[in-house]
Amino acid sequence: MNIIVCVKQVPDTSEVRIDPVTNNLVRDGVKSIVNPFDTYAIEEGVRLKEKFGGKVIVLTMGPPQAEAVLREAVSLGCDEAVLVSDRGFAGSDTLATSYTLSKAVEKIKDYDVIICGKQAIDGDTAQVGPGMAATLDISQITYVRKIEEIKDGYITAERATEEGYEVVQTKLPCLITVVKEINNPRIPSLKGKMKAKNVAIQVWKAADIGAEENRIGLKGSPTWVLSIFTPPPKSKGKIFEGDPQKAVDQLVDALKGIIH
Ligand code: FAD
Repeated sequence: MNIIVCVKQVPDTSEVRIDPVTNNLVRDGVKSIVNPFDTYAIEEGVRLKEKFGGKVIVLTMGPPQAEAVLREAVSLGCDEAVLVSDRGFAGSDTLATSYTLSKAVEKIKDYDVIICGKQAIDGDTAQVGPGMAATLDISQITYVRKIEEIKDGYITAERATEEGYEVVQTKLPCLITVVKEINNPRIPSLKGKMKAKNVAIQVWKAADIGAEENRIGLKGSPTWVLSIFTPPPKSKGKIFEGDPQKAVDQLVDALKGIIH
């Protein structure tokens, strides 16, 4: 079984800073890490390989320094690493990112399952996984909390919902996005660390993956961030206590005060 794990390098903070002029994320001077949700994707990919054989290819789109997250993934058991990196990708929104990663997947060609994290902690849209599945025209199961079975070309998985979970089955190849309940990521072994140090990272530019110029970077990004702001804190609520009838009367009076 060949598994592709998509990993994003993100700033090591939930306090993401935004450039007030471009409305883009400020990444300079901020330590970068593997997107926390992607650590579960890596672990699940490695577990599938350990169960079914095959290999795990870790894939990222980002600047040259994103190589670090690929090496970390290899230290955790991934076999091959691909960095998709080109100045032409700058300014990509989720549509262009999904397209670019899909073109890299097409170049990899031989795969059964693509695993993404639930969402990235900086962009936070949770759109890239589903966007890739749509671009590649393969089925997807989002928010997977357990892979129940992979058999006869089908995958069966538990998908977390707000009320609990549902069991979904679909045919391979497919893309899944995973939630943190799915596993407990391992820590890297010494052997893994050594392998990560020496692994040859494949670096692919836009031309290498046959990406169309008008579908990548700013040109391929129909989303424009017009403004970003922190919502004002909600005003404090008021609790009416004591005798229920009196409390209701007080509440109605208070509401009348707001309406008039
Ligand atoms: P999500 O959709 O929340 O991620 C879900 C999962 O998809 C991740 O867990 C991971 O498995 C996978 N994934 C996501 N991104 C990647 C990746 N890059 N490589 C591998 N796997 C991935 N970002 C910039 O860095 N520079 C810019 O100039 C820039 N300009 C932007 C302009 C606009 C108008 C917009 C809307 C966004 C811009 N972004 C830019 C942000 C960029 O679009 C997102 O970071 C990116 O599309 C991923 O979206 P997300 O962070 O919401 O990921």
